[in-house]
Amino acid sequence: MTILEATPVQDIPDVVKRLRTTFGSGRTRSADWRREQLGRLTAMLRERESEFANAINRDLGRAPAEAYTTEIGFTTAEADHARRNLSRWMRPERVSPPLVVQPARARVHREPVGVVLIIGPWNYPVQLVLAPLVGAIAAGNCAVLKPSEVAPHASRTLARILPEYLDPDAVAVVEGAVPETTALLAERFDHVFYTGNGAVGRIVMEAAAKHLTPVTLELGGKSPAIVDRHADVAVAARRIAWGKYVNAGQTCVAPDYVLVDAQLEDALLDRLRESVHQFYGADPRRSPDYARIVNDRHFERLQRLARDGEIVYGGEHDAASRYFAPTALRNVPVGASVMQEEIFGPILPVIPVADVTAAIDFVNEREKPLALYLFSESQAVQERVVEETTSGGVALNATMMHLAVAELPFGGVGPSGIGAYHGRAGFDTFSHKKSVLAKPTRIDPPIAYPPYTRLKEALIRRFL
Ligand code: NAD
Repeated sequence: MTILEATPVQDIPDVVKRLRTTFGSGRTRSADWRREQLGRLTAMLRERESEFANAINRDLGRAPAEAYTTEIGFTTAEADHARRNLSRWMRPERVSPPLVVQPARARVHREPVGVVLIIGPWNYPVQLVLAPLVGAIAAGNCAVLKPSEVAPHASRTLARILPEYLDPDAVAVVEGAVPETTALLAERFDHVFYTGNGAVGRIVMEAAAKHLTPVTLELGGKSPAIVDRHADVAVAARRIAWGKYVNAGQTCVAPDYVLVDAQLEDALLDRLRESVHQFYGADPRRSPDYARIVNDRHFERLQRLARDGEIVYGGEHDAASRYFAPTALRNVPVGASVMQEEIFGPILPVIPVADVTAAIDFVNEREKPLALYLFSESQAVQERVVEETTSGGVALNATMMHLAVAELPFGGVGPSGIGAYHGRAGFDTFSHKKSVLAKPTRIDPPIAYPPYTRLKEALIRRFL
């Protein structure tokens, strides 16, 4: 079995030092270097797609088509978008100085922050290190990638292939688990970008605080789907089932649970069951398109959570292959664990509510989620939900598709995360916005200099 080859902890300071030397040389700052590296990243994904898809399949049992849409194709599009827009993003942004500073010119100059650390999770093990890398390279930085040890094949494949394509003195892969990540976090970086659970997010932020290093934390939580009285139930069910059961529910923006108008509960459950049947057949275990649970710990956790309600469909599982059927629960007490923890698996609690107001209250009584989904044909209801709830992002009559819009910043709020990326937001995350003011020396009115006369003061008060 291929497993990751942990980077010796004692080598880690030298890896960072090597990258720092490269950054110091200035070569990563040029637009040409950035464009070329982004081009090589896309070439790598195109030429080595099957190796990445195979690794993802071995780690998660995910179908190659899904590995393409959610990881390889997704990241390629992100890199292409960055390459196409790079000149525009890099262009200094002019701002007009106030009268009192005139004559002068002012601009915001975006410069790379330096050497950044990107720590990834296991659920989309390629996309979630490479999409942040796109932002880091576009902004002209050097980067250390630390893929998740929980997806060892993807980690190994990244460590093996990446140096063949990208500047090895500017982008390094460190493989390993807690000891290696701890050693990395002891180093000083100029930005730490972490994707994963909130408990480790706190460890990352604490370590970064020692160096006053800014962080981006892409975390998770319980993302609700609301199915309003005015919803097209068949479409809602299909899109919720897709969002929930892709990657066997192991997706940070999967709809975690559904709040359905009580009048539609039965219809929605029927349609969800039909959608599962359409997607994965009568026995999803035999479907090549249905993924597996990543490890025994998560499998056991899901077995426990499935006991928290009445199983409407699914529930079957097999420990040997870590198969867990697409499952829906009803009659779930809101205090049960399945409604307290992030499920991160193919179990969908369906909770009836009186109306959309009750759904909004339910969401607002809980932690701010990473994503919120609303199914409703009513414009008024759509506007209410957008205005009256807080979440990292919202998709109306869709699940997860907002991530595919490169110019929509992707990130959480409160416990679901700090900061955002994708498209321009990723470029900005890894850039320092430097203020630049330039004054000519031809004229130098004495108004601002002492001694302050009454006339000068009057003028200053007038113009400041
Ligand atoms: P994980 O276990 O792979 O951990 C993430 C990373 O943290 C790994 O690289 C791991 O090596 C490192 N790590 C683990 N323990 C550590 C420690 N004690 N010190 C330092 N580093 C440590 O992944 P996970 O946390 O199980 O991922 C699932 C979570 O991530 C879910 O909560 C999910 O919602 C969230 N997630 C968020 C996004 C997003 O984009 N917002 C995407 C995917 C997953």
